[in-house]
Amino acid sequence: MKRHYETLTPEGVRLFLAGYETLAVRLGGKPAQWNVREVSDGNLNLVFLVHGPDGSVCVKQSLPHVRVDPEWRMPLDRTAFEAEWLRRAERFAPGHVPEFLLFDPDMFVLVMECLDDFVTLRQALGEDADATGPSRIIAEFVTRIAFSSSLLAGRLEDVMPDMALFAHNTTLTRITFDLVLSDPFCVHPRNHWLSELDQDVMALQNDPAIARAMIRLQQRFLTCPQALLHGDLHSGSVMVRGEQVRVIDGEFSLYGPIGFDCGLYLANLVLARAAARSDERRTHLAEAMEVFWSGFSTHFLSLWQTCALRGDLLAEGTFAAFPSLLHAEREHYLNGIFQDMTGFAAAEIIRRTIGYAQVADFDHLSDTTEKAARQREALTFAGTLLRNPPLSMTEFSVRLED
Ligand code: ADP
Ligand code: MG
Ligand code: MG
Ligand code: MG
Repeated sequence: MKRHYETLTPEGVRLFLAGYETLAVRLGGKPAQWNVREVSDGNLNLVFLVHGPDGSVCVKQSLPHVRVDPEWRMPLDRTAFEAEWLRRAERFAPGHVPEFLLFDPDMFVLVMECLDDFVTLRQALGEDADATGPSRIIAEFVTRIAFSSSLLAGRLEDVMPDMALFAHNTTLTRITFDLVLSDPFCVHPRNHWLSELDQDVMALQNDPAIARAMIRLQQRFLTCPQALLHGDLHSGSVMVRGEQVRVIDGEFSLYGPIGFDCGLYLANLVLARAAARSDERRTHLAEAMEVFWSGFSTHFLSLWQTCALRGDLLAEGTFAAFPSLLHAEREHYLNGIFQDMTGFAAAEIIRRTIGYAQVADFDHLSDTTEKAARQREALTFAGTLLRNPPLSMTEFSVRLED
């Protein structure tokens, strides 16, 4: 039976779940016993956690508008893409995402495992939790999904239909293109920043070297469908509990350059470092960045040795007579990811400092002069990444210390 979309209330969540026997059984008891709690904290969607006598679920529904701005209308289909992403993430990187339970295409509701007692990595980083463990795990997560979803592991007959499927996620791809890669680099009403940063923003927006780098990154983003990306891999899309790590919120998923996911994650470590409360913490976060890239690159190259799957690209097949050449081309591919990563990291740092959706990392700094100084540090670093891209992680780290 087709139902009509309506925005869920806590009572609506109860009725919705009661209509699905497997979910009702998972929760146990009677619907009246279920505790429904809204935990929405992102910009776009409603999220509820539901606990029954026997179990729990997380219910996510898209709204016909941006959650934090009802005037900004938006189609509902983003949870459908998140559901598609989640099913692939479960397959390619098992154990790194909440379990997929159900997608209702009429109500645009995704039901997944409830991550009890997990907090976002952003919150954990703000409380000085370990950053190296999660970075190692996220590196492995990105590697696995990127490699497995790409033509490195799949034949074009299998991969290209998925490229076509995710190519329809245009609403959120548009948001990324505008909010991350465009608006912050011109005069745009969605931008905002502390007045102390006026000069910095002027300099950034009027620098031809930065404009050129962004012109190129825009092309990489839209015309380089290397692999299935998460698309919004900031520290609020990672949840942690002790040493456990799960990635959530894949609604921005698309086929794109692998360095985009890497860059977003890295940028959020840079922002956390700029906002850190102590020098020890700054050192720790810089170390986490190195752990992330070394984990990613080691894993990526080793998948070529260990993964049973071989796709159409960079496989031994046609060019098996040239093993060292093939090895060099794989290194070249990885270097391309590194270049993309530092570029997209810079764009993310900039947009999270002067663009529409900024990060909470700096909120604890009540003195605006101090806050502006920390944000300037991040902006300046991002500027150097775009003007003069580092060629290696060592160079990146040296630049971070300057
Ligand atoms: P949005 O797309 O609106 O950003 P998210 O998917 O990021 O929504 O979820 C918003 C918040 O809900 C997260 O920051 C997290 O606190 C909580 N949350 C999301 N998914 C789960 C889950 N599976 N288990 C527990 N909490 C979750
Ligand atoms: Mg989110
Ligand atoms: Mg969130
Ligand atoms: Mg989201």
